[in-house]
Amino acid sequence: MDASVRQKLRANLVAVEKRIASACARAGRQRYEVTLLAVTKTVSAEVAALLPEMEILDLAENRPQHLWAKVGTLPPEVRWHLIGHLQRNKIEKTLPLVHEIHSVDSIRLLQALEEQATTYHRTLPVLLEVNASGETSKHGFTPAELPDLVPTLRELKHVQVRGLMTMAALQEPEACRPTFVAMGKLRNQMRTLLVGSHAVEHLSMGMSNDFEIAIEEGATFIRLGSVLFEGIRA
Ligand SMILES: *Cc1c(COP(=O)(O)O)cnc(C)c1O
Repeated sequence: MDASVRQKLRANLVAVEKRIASACARAGRQRYEVTLLAVTKTVSAEVAALLPEMEILDLAENRPQHLWAKVGTLPPEVRWHLIGHLQRNKIEKTLPLVHEIHSVDSIRLLQALEEQATTYHRTLPVLLEVNASGETSKHGFTPAELPDLVPTLRELKHVQVRGLMTMAALQEPEACRPTFVAMGKLRNQMRTLLVGSHAVEHLSMGMSNDFEIAIEEGATFIRLGSVLFEGIRA
């Protein structure tokens, strides 16, 4: 890999880390409470492979096929997160490769994941995707329907519901704040409803446009693509 690519990536990371640290400080949070996921969908496996060298071990892809293609070429210590829609016919191949799925968007998918996780004798941490902005182009449960899922969620044995994920509407960052605040309340409500069955702790929210606001409002995973790979060609 070209030395200038490595240099540019390192500089981007340093700049992002500064912004994460400032947002944590403003919110009175510790840096370790927020995990940076590098979203590698716009870059090659060669560029993605520079991240573990820089101690970024949590990587994310939104398309299962792209995740499959990168997994084998990166070191095994990388934790892969799926952050986009998963069709049921891709579960069997995807499950052994992922650490966590952030984008569980239907009951049917949950039940199919439970079945496959049982077959593989593994536990599978997942987040429930919430369509908080109400845009019809987006996947996810509506905030209103989440509490109704509780009896179904309590029956899951291998799938562990660890939190909620959302994508805010693309707009001026400050305008995303109410969405993030509402997600925090919804996470707290689900945590209470699921006590004894699932440890609902996480909030996966905040992308390049709005991650500082998301951190201020309690994000535990931020998913960054463009701000990390700015100025780097695939
Ligand atoms: C692409 C993508 C991201 C990263 O978006 P950027 O704006 O490039 O940081 C985050 N989450 C999901 C679900 C994505 O598909």
